[in-house]
Amino acid sequence: MELLKIGTFISQERKKLGLTQAALAEKLFVSEKTVSKWETGKGLPDTSVLPALCEILHVTVNELLCGERVSSEEYADKAEINLLQLQKTKEEGDKALLSMEWVIGILSVVFLLSLTVIAAYLSMETWLRIFLICFAFAVSIVGIGFALKIEQIAGYYACKKCGHKYVPKYNQVFWAMHFGRTRYMKCPRCNRWSWHKKTTR
Ligand SMILES: [Zn+2]
Repeated sequence: MELLKIGTFISQERKKLGLTQAALAEKLFVSEKTVSKWETGKGLPDTSVLPALCEILHVTVNELLCGERVSSEEYADKAEINLLQLQKTKEEGDKALLSMEWVIGILSVVFLLSLTVIAAYLSMETWLRIFLICFAFAVSIVGIGFALKIEQIAGYYACKKCGHKYVPKYNQVFWAMHFGRTRYMKCPRCNRWSWHKKTTR
């Protein structure tokens, strides 16, 4: 989304109505500075004020996000483009989450291994040895559980049989056989079992 184009559009529609930045800000219960930020392309109106802003300016949300008036013929196309852009933003977020899964997973395993090695080879009291190993296991189980939670909620799993994409329940992901992120699960749509791949699209 082009913030500057959106900002110019807001400013232009506001002026058409003979409103000052201060008057528009007052109607929306935001500061004048906020309106100025939108109009100079330094920020996008929050989703909470978007409907009210569009109503005051007599434009649709779609038009505002396009930064221009949209004729009814091209309306569906433009709406789709905006939707795709929002989807892309989600996709990027999901990808970042999934790389975090790696980091957390690897850290958990490294932590477990190093503490186990320390407990096994360093001379210490037996109770301390047992405590260290239990502690290492507990921490890495929490870490891996957290990494798995990220995998569950970021993106989708795609059914191999029918192509359906879905977000499974944590339990389902937890108990599924897997190679990396590809898990053997039952599809909620076709009810068949197959290897479901992780995808962010
Ligand atoms: Zn399926």
